[in-house]
Amino acid sequence: MSSTTEVPRRGGRYTHAEAILGPELCGRLADTKVLLVGAGGIGCELLKNVVLTGFGHITLLDLDTIDLSNLNRQFLFRKKDIKQSKAMVAAQTAGAFNPNVHIYPIHANIKEPQFDIEWFRGFDIVLNALDNLDARRHVNKMCMAAGIPLVESGTAGYLGQVQPLLKDRTECFDCVLKPTPKSFPVCTIRSTPSQPIHCIVWAKSYLLPQLFGEDEDGTTELDDAEKQGENGGQEIAALRKEALAYRAVRKALRAAETTHDAAKTVFQKVFHSDILNLLSMSDMWRSRAPPTPLDFHAIENHSFVIQEPSKSHTATGGVNGRSSGKPAANGHVNGNAASAPIQQRNGTNAGLKDQRALSLQDNLALFVSSTNRLAARLRAGEETISFDKDDDDTLDFVTAASNLRSAAYYIERKTRWEVKEMAGNIIPAIATTNAIISGLIVLQALHILRKSYGALKIVHLQFKPSVPLGTVNLCPPNPKCAICRDTYTTVLCDPTNVTLGEIIDGILGDGNGEHGGTGRREVSVYEDKRVLSDPDWDDNLERTLESLNVTRGKFLTIVDEEGEWGDIAVALSVLPPNRPADGPSLILPSPLPKPTHTPRRTSPAPTVSRKRSAPDDDIEESEPLSKRPRINGAITVPQMGSPSKKRRLEDEGLVMLSGATDEVDDEVIVID
Ligand SMILES: [Zn+2]
Repeated sequence: MSSTTEVPRRGGRYTHAEAILGPELCGRLADTKVLLVGAGGIGCELLKNVVLTGFGHITLLDLDTIDLSNLNRQFLFRKKDIKQSKAMVAAQTAGAFNPNVHIYPIHANIKEPQFDIEWFRGFDIVLNALDNLDARRHVNKMCMAAGIPLVESGTAGYLGQVQPLLKDRTECFDCVLKPTPKSFPVCTIRSTPSQPIHCIVWAKSYLLPQLFGEDEDGTTELDDAEKQGENGGQEIAALRKEALAYRAVRKALRAAETTHDAAKTVFQKVFHSDILNLLSMSDMWRSRAPPTPLDFHAIENHSFVIQEPSKSHTATGGVNGRSSGKPAANGHVNGNAASAPIQQRNGTNAGLKDQRALSLQDNLALFVSSTNRLAARLRAGEETISFDKDDDDTLDFVTAASNLRSAAYYIERKTRWEVKEMAGNIIPAIATTNAIISGLIVLQALHILRKSYGALKIVHLQFKPSVPLGTVNLCPPNPKCAICRDTYTTVLCDPTNVTLGEIIDGILGDGNGEHGGTGRREVSVYEDKRVLSDPDWDDNLERTLESLNVTRGKFLTIVDEEGEWGDIAVALSVLPPNRPADGPSLILPSPLPKPTHTPRRTSPAPTVSRKRSAPDDDIEESEPLSKRPRINGAITVPQMGSPSKKRRLEDEGLVMLSGATDEVDDEVIVID
């Protein structure tokens, strides 16, 4: 144990690491090759951690350069580093933390072709510190193809997550669909808002474009709503009338007359007439509190009183999901707050101004001033103005307009700061969250290196002071996943010389012997979403891979027409640099890939046909996949007799337990 190679590992800086990790893992870390993708918010913290833990060989990849706005949380960077490569600077700064580790920085995009499957295979583990879905999915696929364990991570404000992903053992990143960004029904935004965000979306995406955007009558959205069967025909008709009335207001804003009147005209239409119009549709307000039309002069002279109707209006209870009957938050519902009028834009207390609760008068004043500023810009020649969180005029307008609308609907009002976050879809990046998450990444990585698979967990950093960290057990792969359920293989080739047909024939083999592949069969071939050939279309088989733009780093997916064999994903890699000049231009894997085979006959049980020779084989006795007996989407289980039947059902993702007391263990999947 006191061999010379381990000398730097013993004592000193590694005393604690050795005590915690044990001498075996601690010693092994020096030889561990880790790929760290991303040197941003999580990446900087993570690099510091892996360097101090003692991972011996760290490849750090990032395509970005350092920006001023990174410096509040990416602590490996200083002001002098702005505009330089993140990977390079981070490696330089963190390298000084531990002289025993080697950091190899790469300033590049992880999707570039040189980072192919062979390159990924050179690592023991990959750690993701990425900020976008596209790159995450790419790294996930490469790790699944190369069979390299991946620890995936992400943060959003105070929330974060770490997830270990291991081929064939856990779900991959693509086993579960990712949710799409939330959108709201048009009627919620236009007539029946119940949350601050509804009013902010209305001000930003409806009112601002209506007044200052391109000249359109705003009815397209309503046509769509009708087509999609959104209910409320009467309501949509009223909204249509309202949309047409905007033309007059737009004209007033662009006219050369006094602007104060224009702002007031807008106010009267939007916060008074339109609301009166909605109130006339009594049906709408049977189960929700009707809004209160606002009065410009009454707000101006502090005499305006707004009171949410009693709960009798919301007899059906909480329809809008808000706690009715209470005065709105901020305590300024009636506009009688003692606060001083809002400071003008050039005021010195910008930070304080942004975070101050705005009274109803404040919002009215801000509405008039921002409308005037925007109208002046139109008259000065700007053709259209759209929302930009960094454009003070539009932000002021959206803040004031959304708060006035919130007041009319008894909804909590927001500060300018909050509106900026919500309207700009800004989720603040928080250094503490990144630090916690990157610590958790290293802990999961150590479990993987120690092969303590039972200890692996998905860890959530959550909003719960009593339980800040939540854990979830890992799920087995989704048997229908298009990424991790493929059988991956690699060919080394020269794409200028090798044809598509040669690859297909080579990979399928002749079906004989141990290394014979599956044999020739009817297949379709895809590259990403492109179809390159199918059984009735073989035009491309004679073409070279390069002419089909199938080159290094890409995958060809071979799909069995009969659905008997699982898909084969063939990764394209380059020939070894030291190959002889007259050597072959295609090197196939050995043995050839044998994906899972689902026999299509259920009885008599089973010599699973290992030998399917020609595509012309008579298959009339076989039963198509889709005709298997199913009840309510579940596969029926008539008998459990034959092993092949059991296997087929397991291939379908169904678990068969022999007895009632059997327990489902980690390796087992239950679907449907
Ligand atoms: Zn998957």
